Amino acid sequence: MGRNEQNGTVGFIGLGKMGREMALNLLTAGFAVCAYDVRKDAIDDLAAHGATGAGTLAEAARDADIVICMLPDTPQVEEVIYGEGGLLTSPPRGRLLVDMSTISPVAVRRMYADLKVVGVEFLDAPVSGGPIGAKNASLSIMVGGDRDAFLRAEPYFQAMGTTITHVGEAGSGQTVKLCNQLVCGINLQAICEALALGRASGVDLEQLRNVLLGGSAASWMLDKLGPAMIAGDASAGFRIDLMLKDLRLVQEQALSLSVPLPGTALVTSQYLEARAHGEGTNGNQALFRVYDRMTNQAAT
Ligand code: NAD
Repeated sequence: MGRNEQNGTVGFIGLGKMGREMALNLLTAGFAVCAYDVRKDAIDDLAAHGATGAGTLAEAARDADIVICMLPDTPQVEEVIYGEGGLLTSPPRGRLLVDMSTISPVAVRRMYADLKVVGVEFLDAPVSGGPIGAKNASLSIMVGGDRDAFLRAEPYFQAMGTTITHVGEAGSGQTVKLCNQLVCGINLQAICEALALGRASGVDLEQLRNVLLGGSAASWMLDKLGPAMIAGDASAGFRIDLMLKDLRLVQEQALSLSVPLPGTALVTSQYLEARAHGEGTNGNQALFRVYDRMTNQAAT
C-alpha cells in the first residue's frame, strides 16, 4: 500500500498527456497512486514521482479505493473493463470506477449497467481544459452517474480540476463533453476563417487577435490556440486525431437521435482534410493549415 493511504488510494490507468499530469496532481494532493499503463516507461516515470508502479490492471485495482481511467477511446476502456484480467473481474477494493476519457455515451451506459451487476459503481467524468488544465489542476470535469458515487469521487476530482459538475445519470458527462467539443471545433473553424480573411487583406494578425479578444468574438480557442496558429506552430496540443474521434462520437449520437448538426458535419470534413495531409498528430491549431492550402499560403 502507498505512503499516503490515509487519504485514499487511487489506481490510475492511462498515463499519457493528460493522465500523467492528473496522476501527479493526485500525488501532490496527498493521495497514494498505483499507476498502470501499457507503456512501461510511463509507469516508471510515475514511480519516480512517488507513485507505486503496477505490473497489471488487477494489481493497480487491488488496494484502490477508486480506479480512474484516462485512455484514448472507447475500445481501450472496453479492453480495461471487459478484457482478460480486466476490472469487471478484478474490481477496485472500494468498488468505484471512474472513466475520465472521452468515449461513447452508449458504451458508458452499458459499462455502468454491467458493473452495477457485480456491485461496482461507475462514473463517466470526461474533462475539458487540455494538458495545461491537467497540469494546473484546473480541469472542468463533467460527471454522469449516481449521486452517491459522485460524492465519493468528489475529493479526487478536486485534486484534478476546479469546475466539477454532476450533470445527470450515466452517460450525461459524455454528452456534455461532446457538446463542448462541437463548440470548440466550430469555434476554431470560425477563427481560421477570420485569420484567413485578415491575412489576405493585409491585416496584422497579432493585432487582429488582440482586438477580437477584447470584444464579443473572444474565446478560449482564440486566446490559447491563436498564437500558435499565427506563428504556424502546429506541433503541440490536443491532437487532430483525438478531435476527429470526438467529432465522430458527436455525429454518432446526433444521428441516433435524428438531430441534424450541419456545422459539425462541415468542420469534421475539414479535420479529415487535415488528417489526409498528415496532420493527425499535430495540435488542433493545425486546422488553420487547411485554410493555408485553400488560399495557397502553405508555408511548407
Ligand atoms: P494519450 O494518447 O496521450 O494517452 C493515453 C494513454 O493510455 C497512453 O499512455 C497509452 O499508452 C495508454 N493506454 C492505451 N491503451 C491502454 C490500455 N489498454 N491499458 C492501459 N493503458 C493504455 O491521450 P491523452 O491526450 O492523454 O487523452 C486521453 C483522453 O482524454 C482521450 O479520451 C482524450 O480524448 C481526452 N482528452 C484529451 C485532451 C487533450 O488535450 N489531450 C483534452 C481533453 C480530453
